[in-house]
Amino acid sequence: MSVVTLDLARARAIAGAVVDPEIPVLGIGDLGVLRDVRMSGGGVEVDITPTYSGCPAMNVIAWEVEAALASAGFPQVRVRLVLSPAWTTDWITEAGRQALRDYGIAPPAKRAGRRALFGADDDTPCPRCGSAATEKLSEFGSTACKALWRCTACREPFDAFKCL
Ligand SMILES: [Zn+2]
Repeated sequence: MSVVTLDLARARAIAGAVVDPEIPVLGIGDLGVLRDVRMSGGGVEVDITPTYSGCPAMNVIAWEVEAALASAGFPQVRVRLVLSPAWTTDWITEAGRQALRDYGIAPPAKRAGRRALFGADDDTPCPRCGSAATEKLSEFGSTACKALWRCTACREPFDAFKCL
């Protein structure tokens, strides 16, 4: 592999490991927020797509990516926000879904579609016991990107990702 290829792989790994402060259990690589990493003219260009347009965390993430790459020795880092196509929960990797479950957050149903954001929820199984007997308590969980649910089988409340 050429030096450029190695640098690119390293830049990708570093950027992908940056966490979304709203969901600190997985990196933006597994979250699907990291869209592209390119070497260009001695610098690095990084594309990220916000999980949801109102997420104030996105500026923090852009800054964290820049800081992480700069401290790893990449001299020029440019982070671009790419708004189209819009992020969807389908972009969360399998590893990312497992990390969410391990943390007690119900991962979004696959291919839920953007309509789900506005309340047409599909069944959300309990991340703790797997029961489908769950009910939504509130549109807003610990952050605006999550809703608060409760499992009627094990009686535990849990956060669920809103399907975007
Ligand atoms: Zn349960």
